[in-house]
Amino acid sequence: MKNILVFGGAGYIGSHTLKHLLNEGYSCVVADNLIYGHKEAVDKRAKFIHSDLLDLTSLKNIFKKEKIDAIVHFAAFAYVGESVIDPAKYYQNNLIGTCNLLNTMLDFGVKDIVFSSTCATYGEPLYTPIDEKHVQNPINAYGRSKLMIEQIFKDYERAYGLRHISLRYFNAAGASIDGSIGESHEPETHLIPLVLKAIKGEIEAINVFGTDYDTKDGTCERDYIHVEDLALAHRLALENLYKYSGCINLGTGISTSVKELIDAAKELSGKDCVINYAPRREGDPAKLFADNKKAKQILGWEPKFKDIKDILKSAWNWENNRKF
Ligand code: UDP
Repeated sequence: MKNILVFGGAGYIGSHTLKHLLNEGYSCVVADNLIYGHKEAVDKRAKFIHSDLLDLTSLKNIFKKEKIDAIVHFAAFAYVGESVIDPAKYYQNNLIGTCNLLNTMLDFGVKDIVFSSTCATYGEPLYTPIDEKHVQNPINAYGRSKLMIEQIFKDYERAYGLRHISLRYFNAAGASIDGSIGESHEPETHLIPLVLKAIKGEIEAINVFGTDYDTKDGTCERDYIHVEDLALAHRLALENLYKYSGCINLGTGISTSVKELIDAAKELSGKDCVINYAPRREGDPAKLFADNKKAKQILGWEPKFKDIKDILKSAWNWENNRKF
């Protein structure tokens, strides 16, 4: 049985992946600095270590004490807007933190890593659906920090034999089907939780950022991928590191507009919400959706949740019974 270090396992995608790995029989050690993560999200079957990628002593101690076979690395700051205002925070944490992790794991002879990357590494798309060959030209420090890490992996592969898969997520969405964990950000900036909060009356209205895009209805189109499908892809990536290193998109390949998403949420809940049509949000591309053929070819991965209503249903269930 493999022992996996899930760094950032108290976060949204990390905690769902952790649960999936444990269900599949892996043993897991979780490390998280709990700045944005939630201790309550960490499955009790895993050992939890409070650690930070910028604390080299603490990193070394993990590898000294635990016999780690591979790493799934989620630990990063992920607020795009903040990364533009304060890029230093993003390069320090995301980039330098990851170098610390890489250097430490290699010092201890660990060569396998699955990494949370993002479609934000592509920047403004030149064509859709976006495949992995699309030029990468990120438009914010968050995306650039992730791209730099992808590039470092290639150098480390050549020089030190690192085995790596970077999973470029499109829009992570939904919650665990058993209702035990889900999305919980503070502050919350993502469309789905905000729409559901508007429907519940917890916020006054949902802002629709931009209605004049060149899209099917003028609002932005995104590819919402269920967090349990992401979790599955991380396990498959771990299991395929022996034969493949590189980057893989994770999306459904289906695009949903902001308006379509709000309508689906209203239909699902049977409730209305106030919509505030607002100007475009800076840095939002009109359309982002994935060509996911590579994930199918290399990982044998196929998303189980393709209908936005099913994705929203799990998010709605979580929003109404959330534990943190
Ligand atoms: N969006 C919106 N209102 C909000 C939050 C987001 O209209 O309050 C739009 C945003 O412009 C984007 C889409 O919803 O087109 C998804 O945004 P989100 O922040 O959830 O994810 P992103 O695509 O930025 O990673």
